[in-house]
Amino acid sequence: MAVTFNTIPDEYRIATDEDLKARILARKAELGDQLVVLTHHYQRREIVALGDYAGDSYALSKIASQQDAEYIVFCGVHFMAESAEILSQPHQKVYLPNPLAGCPMADMAQIGNVLYAWDALNKAVPDSKIIPISYMNSTADLKAFCGENDGAVCTSSNAEKAFKWAFERGEKIFFFPDEHLGTNTANTLGIPKDQIAIWDYKDRKLGGNGVADLQRARVILWKGYCHVHTTFRTEYIEKMRREIPDIKIIVHPECPEDVVQAADASGSTKFIVDYVTNAPAGSSIAIGTEINLVDRLAHTFNDKKIYELSGNTCAMCVNMYRTTLNDLAWCLENLDSIQPITIPDDIVRNARIALSRMLEIQG
Ligand code: SF4
Repeated sequence: MAVTFNTIPDEYRIATDEDLKARILARKAELGDQLVVLTHHYQRREIVALGDYAGDSYALSKIASQQDAEYIVFCGVHFMAESAEILSQPHQKVYLPNPLAGCPMADMAQIGNVLYAWDALNKAVPDSKIIPISYMNSTADLKAFCGENDGAVCTSSNAEKAFKWAFERGEKIFFFPDEHLGTNTANTLGIPKDQIAIWDYKDRKLGGNGVADLQRARVILWKGYCHVHTTFRTEYIEKMRREIPDIKIIVHPECPEDVVQAADASGSTKFIVDYVTNAPAGSSIAIGTEINLVDRLAHTFNDKKIYELSGNTCAMCVNMYRTTLNDLAWCLENLDSIQPITIPDDIVRNARIALSRMLEIQG
């Protein structure tokens, strides 16, 4: 039985996994087309097995927008369920089975700090048009801010396209909240280092920059990070290459730039899944991303040798791991009494603009 982090009735806490699985399947059968269960790739294996769709945040947000089911149950973290709610139709309700599942990186860009920075930045470079771009891993009010200010949302699979889209509309990009995805994307586009500025939101002046730095910068990156993907180090890559000379190393672009540059390839969660899927049998691949995805790929592709790119720590997203069979069973059996995700109308309206631009940018 999994440990549950959320306050759910004892009935669900003490049930066995077999009982919970049977109840989840029974409830899914009872609700039929009225229900869709979406599962992020970083979820526990047993949760993904019970979902209707598995994917990364981009794929799942697109799938959510195409659903007609009354109940959308999103096994992921809070910003993902929020995005599904923003893109949902009026008759739909979106649920997060464990409401404590948040994303620390999304929480690093609080709207109050962003509004302060936006004002200070525009005063520092008044003659430049700045386009705000937010990574999907952000709160709904930050997405709304981007929608309201001619910006867009992007994911790790379309960040490059989103940056190009922004440069067609303005001179500078203000990107939130992941410094590393921003740096890696700017590097891919060949933007020189002296045209990249980091905005440290703990600094109450110009984010740790001078006016001249901001005038020169084409890309200004919020100083946020994912504590899972920043655990990877180039030493781990060197060690794996020494031990397994023919190994291929693939990492997620939320990793630091030296790790991305030392790897054989980097890309979104979908890119990583496709890379492993298409690799020839017998390939050795070490993956630098969240451990639950690596674990599932290793079990799915047992004709290939899949390794975690590990060092001294386990790259697990504890927030993704929070959702258990207990939570899912409780959620599905109490849809009419559990609070679905709710977002104020003005936030939904503006965030929807930014998310729709994201879907258009990806094509
Ligand atoms: S893996 Fe990182 S970015 Fe993704 S949900 Fe967890 S903390 Fe957030």
